[in-house]
Amino acid sequence: MHPKRRLSSRASGILSALNIPSNKELSGVYDGQWKGSGEAIESVCPTTGEVLARIRTASPADVSETLTKTREAYFQFRDVPAPRRGEILRQIREKLANKREELGALVTLEMGKIRSEGVGEVQEFIDICDYAVGLSRMMNGRIVASERPGHSILEVPNPLGVVAVLSAFNFPVAVYGWNLALSLAAGNATIWKPSPTTPLTSIAVTSIIAEVLSKNNLPGALAGLVTGGQPVGEVLVGSKEVELVSFTGSERVGRIVGQAVVSRFGKSILELGGNNASIVMPDADLSLAVPGVFFGAVGTAGQRCTSTRRLFLHRDIAPEFLQRLQKLYASLKPGDPLDDNTLLGPLHTPAAVNLYESTVEYLRSIDADILFGGKGYEMTPYYGGNFVQPTIAVPKSVEMSDRIWSTETFAPILNVAIFDELEEAIRWNNAVPQGLSSSLWTRDLRNVGKWTGPSGSDAGIVNVNAGTSGAEIGASFGGNKSTGWGRESGGDAWKQYVRWSACTINFSNEAPLAQGVNFNIE
Ligand code: NAD
Repeated sequence: MHPKRRLSSRASGILSALNIPSNKELSGVYDGQWKGSGEAIESVCPTTGEVLARIRTASPADVSETLTKTREAYFQFRDVPAPRRGEILRQIREKLANKREELGALVTLEMGKIRSEGVGEVQEFIDICDYAVGLSRMMNGRIVASERPGHSILEVPNPLGVVAVLSAFNFPVAVYGWNLALSLAAGNATIWKPSPTTPLTSIAVTSIIAEVLSKNNLPGALAGLVTGGQPVGEVLVGSKEVELVSFTGSERVGRIVGQAVVSRFGKSILELGGNNASIVMPDADLSLAVPGVFFGAVGTAGQRCTSTRRLFLHRDIAPEFLQRLQKLYASLKPGDPLDDNTLLGPLHTPAAVNLYESTVEYLRSIDADILFGGKGYEMTPYYGGNFVQPTIAVPKSVEMSDRIWSTETFAPILNVAIFDELEEAIRWNNAVPQGLSSSLWTRDLRNVGKWTGPSGSDAGIVNVNAGTSGAEIGASFGGNKSTGWGRESGGDAWKQYVRWSACTINFSNEAPLAQGVNFNIE
């Protein structure tokens, strides 16, 4: 086994702060015990190309054993009173807060996003724990007025069972956090399959939660972990032992997962790709809109599901807007995302660089004007890193069914079109398969009404003078159409993590039938 190698001090400090050994192969399965007998995978740093660790993933037998333990854990946990479940979440919140900086740095090291975004992700997990602690005293049902005398109808939420969380590489902490917090508050057990390219982060997070569970004499399999790729995901998706599959990832895989879950009448939450637009009106405050679009398009190196990929500019302000935006792009320097001054880190994998390059090539082939970028950097801080220049392009066609407009390219490429009327821009906003996030920049209340109303944006997130990315946990998060219609995090999202029963209770001396039906034998 390889780790005779020496880890860079850049990486080793972060791993040791989280007690992750760097001199041996790591176990990538947790069901109360750390284990793993599947294939070994490597965690590779996107900034330097350095191998950070080798992880033993889950074999099919490991997945099925972990599922069995997770179900047993559910049987125990479902009878724990909800406020007591909230107390467990409060303790998890405390542990996460104590390790916020260290975990954030690990996200940066392994995923490649800049440090403040890595820490921000951990903060999201902390915030949703706070939210779920409150929720644990408020997951209420309803009493419905019965048409029959002496009857009550109760709508009762009970724990659902086992929730499998399958997550994407770009939010290796927050997406799991949103799901775990609601799922545990609701009385479920959770089994997590993270992205195969962010296993270290999942091991660090699971270790923190495992400590809390153990301290409270609860089974570790309440928050089980099975690392690995597609085969591990397929077992979870196909298993009747999983009541809810919460899947975050691409539309391509989401389509497969959604169909597989529905074919066994399971429940799913799908959080899939976005293809998000910002619309800038002539009355917009450009001192807000230009930096807002800049962060939306370039933040996380364009690797958020909510990244701004389409920019629709009103003809009157388009030249000035583009000039100011290009100035900001020109000021960006790629750097080590661990360095506090860096705003642009690498793409996550070499495959993402290939996708970026082939998309730029396609833009050139359709004669788009490349206003900025369109290539890698000559000088990057690390030669092994996946750095590319954020790109602004103006395709000739504004036909939204064209591939360049209708598909999500998970890289920092912003396509621009010019419009004359708001209605035209809204039509473009809505003309793509995806429906995650959208934003309108205006100071005119009439535009706001149109944008947020029935003839407005059809996305799950509809912002005004706020960019497409950077949602808070309080509102439910998710998208419509091919983004999958899923909702997670705040709002009413918790209602999907329980099973609902309508309970009619007759406390009278008669047993009348509903709708006045008469079924008496004379
Ligand atoms: P991906 O679809 O390649 O992988 C997602 C997960 O699915 C991974 O854990 C992967 O191992 C697993 N998987 C792959 N094939 C599977 C199968 N057949 N059955 C079960 N599981 C399988 O996505 P990615 O590249 O990791 O992430 C990027 C994508 O995720 C983008 O499209 C992005 O927009 C989307 N995303 C969406 C949201 C949202 O909330 N809407 C949030 C983050 C990311």
